[in-house]
Amino acid sequence: MPRNLQQFRLTAASLSLASLTCAGSVWAASGPAKTPQSSGPPATVVVDAGHGGFDRGGIPGQRVPEKEMTLDVAQRLKGILLANGYHVVMTRDSDVFVPLATRVAIGNSYRNAIFVCIHFNSANRMGAEGIETYFYNRESLPLASAVHYFVAGGAPSANRGVRRRGFYVLRKTNVPAVLVECGFLTNPTEAQYAQTTSYRQKLADEIAAGIRGRFSVSGASSSTRVATGGTIPLQPYIDQTNIRSSKTSRSKHSHKIGTGSKSSKKKRSPKPTESEASTTPKQSDG
Ligand SMILES: [Zn+2]
Repeated sequence: MPRNLQQFRLTAASLSLASLTCAGSVWAASGPAKTPQSSGPPATVVVDAGHGGFDRGGIPGQRVPEKEMTLDVAQRLKGILLANGYHVVMTRDSDVFVPLATRVAIGNSYRNAIFVCIHFNSANRMGAEGIETYFYNRESLPLASAVHYFVAGGAPSANRGVRRRGFYVLRKTNVPAVLVECGFLTNPTEAQYAQTTSYRQKLADEIAAGIRGRFSVSGASSSTRVATGGTIPLQPYIDQTNIRSSKTSRSKHSHKIGTGSKSSKKKRSPKPTESEASTTPKQSDG
């Protein structure tokens, strides 16, 4: 998206967050509007693979096509969720272009659905790295926290935190919606991970774990290590660096990655600069 628009939306998001946060305990006290469905029919998960067709994703000249990575992770996630009894709807299940409005319409056509948008990041600076998860509506925060907790904790990449931003697909969906950026395809190390089948499977596994665990973060008295509403600062950026120990997660998960990442350092990234990442270019932000 154009930089000036991105800045505007960031500012707008900051203001919106401030006004929302003025409600204080509303975040934790009221929790998500949607009722947990643990005892009801299987939840519908709308899985949205970013980009597709002529929209390759990423930045010009990027070697690894984002649209292929997002679709592969989305299809793996679909398989996991189906095996877990979820009703799964894909906004795309092949290399086709789907307009953002159509993706949103699909998400909004299911009651009690959740919308999970899968992307990979890109930046002109090769060193840019890490996992970040976006949400917009406050009802989406538990889902965003849970997905981020697992993906960022399980990946050998830096934790860039959970952030609030008004991406089109997040603003326009009426259901809890998150957008997870599964690493930078412009970063040689993270691009190498992404091109590994076992790593894409792992990403899907972790996203699924977040979906399954989303209700554990919604209660005001939740004692989980995942961020609850009460921990939200007055910025659009939530640093969850210490939410899930990378040492713990690596020792637990690294054997599954299979990319020689065991010895790789999981750096703690500073608060990211908004000018660095392209985050979700063009398509995802309408
Ligand atoms: Zn993208």
